[in-house]
Amino acid sequence: MDLSCFSTTYPEARDKFLHAATARGATLGHWPHPLKGPGGEALSCDTAWLGPEDAAGVLVVISATHGVEGLAGSGPQVDFLREPTSAQLPPHTAVLLVHAINPHGFAWLRRVTEENVDLNRNWVDFTQPLPANPGYAQLHEHYVPRHIDAQSVAAAEAAIEAYRQQHGLHAERVARSTGQYTHPTGIFYGGSGPTWARRTSEAILARHLAKAKTIAIVDMHTGLGPFGYGEPICNHAPGSDRVNRAKLWWGESVTEPLLGTSSSQEKFGLTEFGYERCLAHADIAFVALEFGTYQPPRGGRVLQADHWLWNHGDPTGAEAVPIRNALRDHFYPPFADWQEMVLWRSRQVFAQGVRGVGG
Ligand SMILES: [Zn+2]
Repeated sequence: MDLSCFSTTYPEARDKFLHAATARGATLGHWPHPLKGPGGEALSCDTAWLGPEDAAGVLVVISATHGVEGLAGSGPQVDFLREPTSAQLPPHTAVLLVHAINPHGFAWLRRVTEENVDLNRNWVDFTQPLPANPGYAQLHEHYVPRHIDAQSVAAAEAAIEAYRQQHGLHAERVARSTGQYTHPTGIFYGGSGPTWARRTSEAILARHLAKAKTIAIVDMHTGLGPFGYGEPICNHAPGSDRVNRAKLWWGESVTEPLLGTSSSQEKFGLTEFGYERCLAHADIAFVALEFGTYQPPRGGRVLQADHWLWNHGDPTGAEAVPIRNALRDHFYPPFADWQEMVLWRSRQVFAQGVRGVGG
């Protein structure tokens, strides 16, 4: 399997994507970001459209919703452009690749956007009262401790473990990762308004998908579940046409957090809820394709260090390097077998999506 589609930095990934899209004859779109990357490089979300402009069926593949996870998501997008299948789409069918929807997080190797927002908790209706997460408020100072020396981290973990003993494992997972709208420096923060990445997503959907009738969306993620396994997670309402469509297209491996069948659990402000609203005119099915990496508590520790760095440290200094590299290796394990599993499964899920929307 040719793994040269993968990259280890944002500029390398962007370059490969733009080259492969140009060579395939795709229509490119550029959505420049106002800030710069760690090497002073320009940041941009880029799109590639393949197929007729007025296609009735469209497969959308998104990378870097969680910035650093873009290293895993970008590779299969580049591979798709390089492989001959992308030149042989069914009639009336198109593919829209959205590369680096959160380019700041991708370039700086963070999960969050430049606003410290988890884009995948940002799609709430900000004109309404925001969801409450009292468990998070209770644990915030331990999830994001002021100091990250061994003693402080051990004390924070002890406090989190005490919460688990008192309230149960599930309650602690809900507190940690369901999303919170009260602590702007914390983890899994949903924001106080639509982020640049959300507004850019909305503009891309309006430009490209206003007329499509059937739309499959695959949002590439890493970090949950067994090492290398790609789980299509579906958060549409259980029993709805959208869930049935997802199962028709992607089969029995589709899981539903709302039914407890997934490595994920119920969450606030997910991207699919925004897509449901923006694409209400179409028959859609949205899955997060989630590739497992390592088991807890490793993920909590790398996020703890990352938030300490951006809240109290110097993200451009020498201390940033090991923290950034640990985050990268957690969400993008540097092993060929892991990349092969990601690539093989992605090819399968993309092909199923194309078949689904191509009728
Ligand atoms: Zn993710």
